[in-house]
Amino acid sequence: MKYDYLIVGAGFSGSVLAERIASQLNKKVLIVEKRNHIGGNAFDEYDKHGILVHKYGPHIFHTNSKKVFDYLSQFTEWRKYEHKVLAKLNNEFYPVPINRNTINKLYNKNFTSNSEVEKFYNQVKEKRSPILNSEAIIVNKVGKDLFEKFFRNYTKKQWNLEPKELSPTVCGRIPVRTNTDDRYFTDKYQFMPKEGYTYLFENLLQHKNITLLLGTDYKAILDKYKYDKIIYTGPIDYFFDYKYRKLPYRSIRFEWKNYKKEYHQKVAVVNHVGDEKFTRVCEYKHLTGQEKKHTTLSYEFSLKDGEPFYPVPTDSNSKLYLSYKKEAKKLKNIIFCGRLAEYQYYNMDQVVANSLKIFSKIISK
Ligand code: FAD
Ligand code: UDP
Repeated sequence: MKYDYLIVGAGFSGSVLAERIASQLNKKVLIVEKRNHIGGNAFDEYDKHGILVHKYGPHIFHTNSKKVFDYLSQFTEWRKYEHKVLAKLNNEFYPVPINRNTINKLYNKNFTSNSEVEKFYNQVKEKRSPILNSEAIIVNKVGKDLFEKFFRNYTKKQWNLEPKELSPTVCGRIPVRTNTDDRYFTDKYQFMPKEGYTYLFENLLQHKNITLLLGTDYKAILDKYKYDKIIYTGPIDYFFDYKYRKLPYRSIRFEWKNYKKEYHQKVAVVNHVGDEKFTRVCEYKHLTGQEKKHTTLSYEFSLKDGEPFYPVPTDSNSKLYLSYKKEAKKLKNIIFCGRLAEYQYYNMDQVVANSLKIFSKIISK
């Protein structure tokens, strides 16, 4: 059997391209996945207590792209869900992103308007220009105290780096608000797939032109099958046998707890911004709306080694990535895309948008 495309990785990047190529171009696709399941890091499953959990940590779908939303809507129905996060600091809970209620509670203020909060930020913020790192971007907006309380420890725990060693794009993901909006995201489309992510992926990959090989490292089958082109969504340094040394990734160890009560925390995610060893605690029933008398939570402990989850955005890592990118550009008939192959801190909607863009380039050729 000869395939038109060999796709490495059955996460969002690989699965969307497989679906488009199979259904729109009527081409044969072999998709090879190292893990024993589809969905990449968005994979979800029912745990032994019957609770739907995300094996690799909480995944909340949000996008401003109608194109991405409409595309995925062919493969799933949605559950309206707007994500809420609280930060736990000295046994108190505060809304994150920092907003007017955070400031009022923390500093015992009674601000009732955006302009009062803006004035407050103007008094405490410290001008940084240019904004070169993750400390500067926060201190420049809200000053040292809020930075120390909400960003410093959490970032150190998550990345094992000081915020000033990380690109401003890391802490810059989190906005700062003057109003009382306590949603984590403000995107136009905020939903969870109604039957879960794995079901969405089953629908993406069900086309007869797609053959799926699970539990297989692509390097083990390269000579076994025939194909014209490769789409690679695994780690780029692994593809090149680490020839310029390993790119650093952060991983996570998850500890799972089931409690015999309906809910354990008020919102889906609590960020532990203090000295606890773990970072984020997620209670999945808030995300899925599942009704059960008991509940499952994951506690995240950030790790250096393990499954590569997060590219680490520093100057030296970007340079190292560019050496690999240069090598990748020299190769014909191979497309590198996704969070691991492009070493970019992408959200799900960004990789879907990216795959759709790559597909339009494929058709235009
Ligand atoms: P992946 O999902 O990593 O898929 C790549 C696949 O390639 C994997 O399945 C891997 O096993 C496979 N692979 C790797 N090497 C090989 C090999 N040698 N042979 C065969 N297969 C291989 N995004 C959001 O939008 N919202 C969120 O709330 C959110 N939360 C997140 C929380 C965590 C803890 C993490 C880690 C990420 C989160 N993301 C979130 C980001 C989201 O997971 C990614 O944007 C998305 O999964 C990237 O898809 P991908 O296909 O590029 O990569
Ligand atoms: N961050 C923080 N405190 C918070 C939330 C986020 O310091 O309460 C920083 C931290 O460095 C984190 C980054 O901002 O890694 C991005 O946060 P996000 O919630 O987007 O992380 P992700 O969901 O990608 O793990």
